[in-house]
Amino acid sequence: MKIPPFTLERQYSEIGHDIENAVLNVLQKGQYIGGHEIAKFEDSFASLIGVKDVISCNSGTDALVLALRAFDIGHGDEVITSSFSFFATAEAISLVGANPVFVDINPDTFLLNINQIESRINSRTKAIIPVHLFGNAVDMTKLKLIAKKHNLKIIEDCAQATGSMWGSNNVGSIGDIGCFSFFPTKNLGCAGDGGAVTTSDESLAQKIRELSVHGSPKRYSHNNIGYNSRLDVIQAAILNVKIKSIKKWIKLRQKIADNYIQLIDKNALLSLPQTNSELSCNTWNQFVIKVQNENFSNTKNYFELFETDVIKNKTSRNFLKSELLKIGINTIIYYPIPIHAQVAYKDKFFDRDLLFNTEKVCTEVLSLPMFPEITFEEQLYISENLNLILKKYTQIAQISA
Ligand SMILES: *Cc1c(COP(=O)(O)O)cnc(C)c1O
Repeated sequence: MKIPPFTLERQYSEIGHDIENAVLNVLQKGQYIGGHEIAKFEDSFASLIGVKDVISCNSGTDALVLALRAFDIGHGDEVITSSFSFFATAEAISLVGANPVFVDINPDTFLLNINQIESRINSRTKAIIPVHLFGNAVDMTKLKLIAKKHNLKIIEDCAQATGSMWGSNNVGSIGDIGCFSFFPTKNLGCAGDGGAVTTSDESLAQKIRELSVHGSPKRYSHNNIGYNSRLDVIQAAILNVKIKSIKKWIKLRQKIADNYIQLIDKNALLSLPQTNSELSCNTWNQFVIKVQNENFSNTKNYFELFETDVIKNKTSRNFLKSELLKIGINTIIYYPIPIHAQVAYKDKFFDRDLLFNTEKVCTEVLSLPMFPEITFEEQLYISENLNLILKKYTQIAQISA
């Protein structure tokens, strides 16, 4: 068997015909910027998420930048977030001239550790960006209390969490602003780049809409230095087809996660992903296991920790990954290097002792194949082989110990 970590081919064979019709229709009508398809998508997405306003834009990264700019966050300001995320979360903060301040993660849920936030707040702190990573919702009840107490804005990074909920509310409708991505691998993806900002605050929505079109409230007048960040009409037309299936796809992801949890054996080296709380309705954008790294030490430099180990296959995680690949199971590491250890941030100082769990999990995580169309037979093949490899591996480790 050969199993990809992610594929869109199977989804396309189901709905490709509808997508082709929708795209052809756009091409024939010639409305390539704005108009009906965009308005229709923004309306449907607003009702899916449960917000008053959706401003579609070019990407999830742009959505974050627009949200930060909407609060006039810029030079000298600080924004608290997690370093265990896709680079764009911090990149957006840096792009507007502010500084990311990273709190550590809870190593069981991979989500930012809310208990560490208050100690990192100072007069420069303006906002918190919780990342609903892998589809698992951050505790928004606790987070809102902290934000309210310190008068901070909450910008939710929902890029991996379309359809995820905290309690009875969708993520993206709980903080001040939500930021979504329609990158093809996300829960709701288009055929290229796309994103959206969600809010129920009318004046914020107005400001974000202006910023996304050159800071322009009406043609040829410009109130702000903005961006050219619009969702393409072709992408909106594709999303209008795909949004009809989002609830079905999320149910399938949840079923697939349940299957993995049932099929994968307990092993001393292995941890299965944990949903944050009963209140978190997980949409499983990724199914991320952890293979323990007993030799982890945060006194090693970044290169030793994240580059040489990866190259030399020194961790148990890398061993499992390469064994799975030998039998056709292709897995991915989200994320091999934390954001604060990236070369792009080499000139910034981050207290690594405060980010111990973030660094450690980067050497332990492995994402198993996860997409709505994966079959039970494929999941069985993955799980049985994973069980076997880990069982043998722990026996050898015990003998050599
Ligand atoms: C994908 C992603 C983004 C960026 O979205 P793009 O549409 O690729 O720009 C931001 N944050 C997280 C957590 C992501 O996974």
